[in-house]
Amino acid sequence: MLNSLISSIKRWRKPGRSSLPRIVARSDHNLSRRDISRAALTVMKRLQEAGFQAYIVGGGVRDLLLGGHPKDFDVATDATPEEAKKLFRGSRIVGRRFRILHARIGREIIEVTTFRGHHSEGEEHEAQQSEHGMLLRDNVYGDLESDAVRRDFTVNALYYTTDGFEIHDYTGGMRDIEQRKIRMIGDPATRYKEDPVRMLRAVRFAAKLDFEIEDKTAAPLEELAPLLRNIAPARLFDEVLKLLMSGYGERTFELLQRHHLWHHLFPDNAAMLDQPAALELSHLALRNTDQRIRDDKRVTPAFLYAALLWPAVYSEQQRIAGKGTPPVPALAQAAQKVTGSQLAHTAIPKRFSIPMREIWDLQQRLPQRGGSRAQRLSEHPRFRAAYDFLLLREECGEIPPGLGQWWTDFQQADGEQRQEMVRKLQRNGGGNKRRGSRGGRRRRPRAEQKSQ
Ligand code: ATP
Ligand code: MG
Repeated sequence: MLNSLISSIKRWRKPGRSSLPRIVARSDHNLSRRDISRAALTVMKRLQEAGFQAYIVGGGVRDLLLGGHPKDFDVATDATPEEAKKLFRGSRIVGRRFRILHARIGREIIEVTTFRGHHSEGEEHEAQQSEHGMLLRDNVYGDLESDAVRRDFTVNALYYTTDGFEIHDYTGGMRDIEQRKIRMIGDPATRYKEDPVRMLRAVRFAAKLDFEIEDKTAAPLEELAPLLRNIAPARLFDEVLKLLMSGYGERTFELLQRHHLWHHLFPDNAAMLDQPAALELSHLALRNTDQRIRDDKRVTPAFLYAALLWPAVYSEQQRIAGKGTPPVPALAQAAQKVTGSQLAHTAIPKRFSIPMREIWDLQQRLPQRGGSRAQRLSEHPRFRAAYDFLLLREECGEIPPGLGQWWTDFQQADGEQRQEMVRKLQRNGGGNKRRGSRGGRRRRPRAEQKSQ
């Protein structure tokens, strides 16, 4: 391993590449062992004591160099998953496309990956590529250098070791951290074809770090964006959550549009964005989500998906209702259609799609407040989300303001005041707007029907 490292260093030190690999000494970087989780340090120590190399790599190093707080630490090693597994009781090897070890230290799980090699050197059962150039399997092992060039972006390919406290940079990641650039390692188009999710990752890191996507890295995005269709909807759903629910959703939304990726993720939302209210609703929902994450409040994909798909659902409902279907079944049909078409792009697990539909259904019921309806509605498990959603619809100008304020007051009122609010509504002839919301096709009372 050491020999191959030395020979690779010699190879890279040819004129023109003289600065790589760059080994940044302890005194020349601001990364400290104290910033790294105890579990990750334990994993590194145990691997090193068993004679293996061990480095922190990826987001852990990148975010610490930028003064941020990494959400986790990943370890790269020359131990195979099986060799590493022996060192950690209760650890598990997971993944097919990439086999990695989940090392359990106390309550923390540290992902340990074996240095990857060049997949062209592997057997078919170790590395496999689809007709589109997509990597189906990538389990050929290699050394630190080959591992570095298999990673996606230069800023994600910095390796820190407690054995000497140095940072190893094979791809120019230190320079790109300084210049705030997301740069693909190798030929961007080839790397996107190997794994189209890298297109989303480029945007995600640019938004999160407030970095620029370097020109050559950005150039193929528009043309290759349709490759996202080849990604399993379940994986895309996970990516969407990372894109939109990590605290930088609004900026990510803008960047995904700018790089022509958005309409491959949310085509039904994208098709509505030329309408100001739809664009505004999407922005507001993402901005709220970002704010709630900053405030450590709970966020749910159900609400965000409800907001992103609503403009299409609402317009489809109006189209169906225009043909004479009453609004309630029209909404159900519209919801079914739009949800179905979204599922072909990103999965929506049932635990989110059911509350999403409830938020939509409640939009029809919130105007109907007569009798004991308001009280019952306010006790609905999805009331709060539906109310927040109603406020967004008013704020973006989709519906005129008023109803939201009524519900705000209702929630703050005591029992007596609530009854008075409902009485007042009925005196003014409101509160049971079933008729109005049926699109004018009022069902005749039974007696009237019989008399004909
Ligand atoms: P964060 O965890 O903050 O979202 P990260 O950079 O740690 O960011 P992970 O998804 O945790 O991202 O992946 C860890 C590392 O694995 C990355 O930094 C990168 O080096 C490598 N990696 C992850 N996904 C890919 C991919 N699709 N192609 C190539 N390398 C990847
Ligand atoms: Mg990570």
